[in-house]
Amino acid sequence: MIKTVSKPKTSSYDAIIIGGGHNGLVCAAYLAKAGKSVLVVEKRPLVGGAAVSEEIVPGFTFSTFSYVVSLFRPHIIRQLDLVKHGLQIIPMETTYNPIPGDRGLVRWADSERTRDEIARFSQRDASLYSEFGLAMGRLSRFAKNIIDTTAPEPASLNPKELFKLFKMARLFKDFDGKLRYLNVKLMTMSAVDFLQEWFESEPLLPAMAGSGIIGTFLGIRSPGTAYVLLHHYMGEIDGAFRAWGFSKGGTGQISLACAKAALSFGAEIITDAAVDHIDIKKGRASGIVLENGDDIRAGTVISGLDPNRTFLKMVGEHELPDDFVTQIKRYKNRGSSGKVNLALSRLPNFKDGRPGHHHLKGDITIAPSIDYVERAYDEAKYGAFSRRPFLNIVIPSLSDPSVAPPGKHVLSAFVQYAPYNLKEGADKWPEQRDAFGNAVIDTIEECAPDIRDCIIHKQVISPWDIEKMTGLTEGNIFQGELSLEQLAFLRPVAEWSRYRTPIHKLWMCGSGTHPGGGLMGAPGELAAKTMLTEGGV
Ligand SMILES: Cc1cc2nc3c(=O)[nH]c(=O)nc-3n(C[C@H](O)[C@H](O)[C@H](O)COP(=O)(O)OP(=O)(O)OC[C@H]3O[C@@H](n4cnc5c(N)ncnc54)[C@H](O)[C@@H]3O)c2cc1C
Repeated sequence: MIKTVSKPKTSSYDAIIIGGGHNGLVCAAYLAKAGKSVLVVEKRPLVGGAAVSEEIVPGFTFSTFSYVVSLFRPHIIRQLDLVKHGLQIIPMETTYNPIPGDRGLVRWADSERTRDEIARFSQRDASLYSEFGLAMGRLSRFAKNIIDTTAPEPASLNPKELFKLFKMARLFKDFDGKLRYLNVKLMTMSAVDFLQEWFESEPLLPAMAGSGIIGTFLGIRSPGTAYVLLHHYMGEIDGAFRAWGFSKGGTGQISLACAKAALSFGAEIITDAAVDHIDIKKGRASGIVLENGDDIRAGTVISGLDPNRTFLKMVGEHELPDDFVTQIKRYKNRGSSGKVNLALSRLPNFKDGRPGHHHLKGDITIAPSIDYVERAYDEAKYGAFSRRPFLNIVIPSLSDPSVAPPGKHVLSAFVQYAPYNLKEGADKWPEQRDAFGNAVIDTIEECAPDIRDCIIHKQVISPWDIEKMTGLTEGNIFQGELSLEQLAFLRPVAEWSRYRTPIHKLWMCGSGTHPGGGLMGAPGELAAKTMLTEGGV
């Protein structure tokens, strides 16, 4: 825990950061470390935004929203000393795909064991699996380079920009011919089409393709979803590529570690303090006004909120160029995901004939066939939640007993699809929330028939709830879709991908900026470093 207050110590700061999400906190830490006076202003009673741990039922800690971590930048952990501030990542050991009436497919950390599992369904797939992993690993090293620097600016003739593009092209040059073609296919194909060039068997195909749709409003057969697969090969924990893990104590511990780092460098954080608007005088941001009317001045205002909320709610269209407003309105949020968190009296029985529960220690994906996942998308396309959704489940208490009382467990189910815009209207979500939660539990029940007997408490979160709780527009988990037309120099919009905005002294630092959503810390870090080198603060 950190001790926070709801009133700032003074009335003026070098920088005010709106929103205490993990990116806002990382940004605050870097600016404070550089000697700036910094205030973070968070509307909720706790910091973390979409990365929080909450004790919704006594003794059970839910990672309310985000639940696994992989892309958090290792250099940020080192530079901000986050381990000293309590960050601990527990690597995930397995990926399990249950199939009703079967042993399902488990992919283990041990590659021999994984090959044997896949061979049950296809010898050919088993023999290609490692080769595929190696190719994706090489491609992800290229992508990793992009997420660790500011986005290139292809329209600029500035020599520095041209050199950056040249450096990137040189990385591409290191690929052999086959890998270059693979890269182009990855950027353009659907997850299923891309994977079908390698593999043939179900459940392997939907199990792997499923990671291409997380947080998108696309189906596994929609072009553009293959690229998202790469994110799942980019993870890095303690130098090991492709590793996903749990944050000990829940994902909120990541945010708390960032907050503690920021405080240790002298930043201030206030909570229960919702910002009403940014004060703009003659095209320059000069401070913020809270909903309670308090007015706080700043040399620079930095928004950790999504682009839509920042510009259309905090700034106002009248302060911005028309073309910029048009682009921000076109920026796609389209929330498509929900979450069901369960407090369990015991571990449910997965009825797969597998001994013990080692195979349940990683993520459990409910995606028994390609058609199953595509059908789940069909319902969402026409404004309904999936009756049989794609689920990505974790039971973190198996790896981290601190999140549940002894012998008891927490289960988190990430749900795709739950469209924000129901055909009856987004505001009908409160009436449909229970039915949505039941559809998720019915789906789990097909693999774990006694799940209902184990439930002590359930928390059902629709995209409408995500928006209400965190401010994420339309409940989009990444502050805007991670589709190719909204990435790199196009995030959030063309010509404004470098954390600056058309308002002088207003900057951005959240997931709506390059390199995008997920627990990375990268937008916060890159924004702070850009401001410090370009005199932004
Ligand atoms: C359900 C869900 C599951 C996810 N799962 C994963 C996962 O497993 N792994 C992963 O890597 N990523 C996951 N993500 C994505 C990831 O959590 C986000 O991309 C990331 O946390 C966003 O961080 P941020 O700091 O950019 O913004 P946010 O977390 O959105 O922070 C913005 C902050 O601003 C505050 N705020 C809003 N309005 C105001 C206001 N008016 N005044 C003051 N403060 C305000 C909010 O309360 C919030 O704290 C998930 C997200 C969700 C919602």
